[in-house]
Amino acid sequence: MSFQDVVLVRYGEITLKDSWTRQNWERILASNIASSLHSAGVELKVTRGEGRIFVHTSDVRASEIAARVFGVVSTSPARTVASDLLEISQAAVEIALQSMPASFAIRPRRTGVTFSSEQIGRNAGEAVRLATGASVDLDEPELEIFIEARRDKTYIFTRVVKGHGGLPLGSQGKMLVLISGGIDSPVAAWMMMKRGCPVTLLHFDSRPYADAINQSIRCAEVLAEWTSGRKIDFITIPIQRAIEKIQAHYPRATCVLCRRLMYRIATEVMEKEGALGIVTGYSMGQVASQTAENILAEQAAIGVPVFHPLIAMDKSEIMDLARKIGTYEVTEETKSCTAVPNKPMTRAKKDEILRAEDDLGLKNIARALVREMTVTRIGNSDTD
Ligand code: ATP
Ligand code: MG
Repeated sequence: MSFQDVVLVRYGEITLKDSWTRQNWERILASNIASSLHSAGVELKVTRGEGRIFVHTSDVRASEIAARVFGVVSTSPARTVASDLLEISQAAVEIALQSMPASFAIRPRRTGVTFSSEQIGRNAGEAVRLATGASVDLDEPELEIFIEARRDKTYIFTRVVKGHGGLPLGSQGKMLVLISGGIDSPVAAWMMMKRGCPVTLLHFDSRPYADAINQSIRCAEVLAEWTSGRKIDFITIPIQRAIEKIQAHYPRATCVLCRRLMYRIATEVMEKEGALGIVTGYSMGQVASQTAENILAEQAAIGVPVFHPLIAMDKSEIMDLARKIGTYEVTEETKSCTAVPNKPMTRAKKDEILRAEDDLGLKNIARALVREMTVTRIGNSDTD
């Protein structure tokens, strides 16, 4: 029998919202937590109150699973007892006996009870000391016993599992993420998901210039492990012939024009998917083609928001995050695109690029290519 009968779920930014938004987002968060746990086969009941979500379950996996849900700051597997000093002390003893620490500290908090934090600390501390022989060490204890008395119920726990923070998935609008099969773009997708945006993934199949469709699908599968059971739409569109045409006429501007083509196509796909913006894995200056001048020329007159959540991150930070998310291993071997010229344009001139786009008829090509899109739904769960 596990000591735990509940998992306390703490969240951050949601509490700063006005009451309508807060309630709405709390509801989304609670439902995302419940779906994540259901998908893992955990039996549970969720309740809300006092700025917390309570997941009632004795399943010891629940705390870690709930901590992965976006919006969650931390979780703790806890035991609930009545707010009674004797019951609290007994539960503290029980939890201490499980690990028999050499030293311990009681960390009490209270609200809406008649006794003080100091009384909790003194009573429970004395009981634990007598039962285990452990000494009290408030600075560097081997075991910390947290006791939170809240009105008629008190929660006792020893672990705080850190979450990723952010906002509940589904609290913001959908994003269309351009996913290349490289290291960066799945991290960009994850960052937007962390801020509450569901995502659709769009991969441009440019074989034989780049062959990363399998890596992109694997990325989608890993990202689908972060969606609390929602499936992810994965879209592919072949662009090899369009790249050939760009290369033949404007070889040095291949990357800039290719990106404009991608944005043109993405703008059309966005509408079909009900997405509100485009997302890329750009990081300023990371490769020759990702410069401020090029970004200006690539996005000029595109007419929809293009987000680059990694723009100010270093490669090492992006790689660390990719490892945490689980996409690093999938993408580390991905080869770069061979259509990139030896000397790619780094300081694109906006007006020249717009003229070249017109000359090649990229807008019409984009419209035609959208008709060739294929959609696959990726994810394990049965929900939606
Ligand atoms: P990544 O690691 O994400 O591939 P990168 O450093 O290799 O990025 P580029 O190849 O210049 O950089 O691509 C920049 C961004 O353009 C990518 O992060 C992605 O959002 C988009 N992109 C590039 N190639 C494709 C593709 N084949 N399909 C969809 N999006 C792409
Ligand atoms: Mg790439």
